[in-house]
Amino acid sequence: MKIALIAHDKKKDDIVKFAQSYKYSLEKHELYATGTTGLKIAENAGLSLHRFQSGPLGGDQQIGSMVADNNMDIIIFFRDPLTAQPHEPDISALMRLCDVYNIPLATNMGSAEVFIHALERGDLKWRDIIHERDEQ
Ligand code: PGA
Repeated sequence: MKIALIAHDKKKDDIVKFAQSYKYSLEKHELYATGTTGLKIAENAGLSLHRFQSGPLGGDQQIGSMVADNNMDIIIFFRDPLTAQPHEPDISALMRLCDVYNIPLATNMGSAEVFIHALERGDLKWRDIIHERDEQ
């Protein structure tokens, strides 16, 4: 699975701790991240990931482009709902594309944990359901 990891500045410590806690699970997948989030996860959790630009410099859009290409499976995005972000339009665009393409998007640690456990069980059916719908 291709998984993208993104965290706003005040959530970076959280995503690092999350990545450390679930390293054994995340390391089985192909990981992508926005620039600073990726650097912190690589340095502190020892995970290797592909790093895009920093979010405010286009990283969210680069991940969005993978979503639009149907080339991303899951996005874990620890958003900070209490701080204005200069790249709010990019964030909204990424979340919108997740809904357009039915890409699972966890926007906080609680939902991200549910995603990880679902991944471990490996019984995700949504792509099959969408595929069947599109065949009809
Ligand atoms: P960053 O970008 O990982 O480069 O800080 C995340 C964001 O703010 O969207």
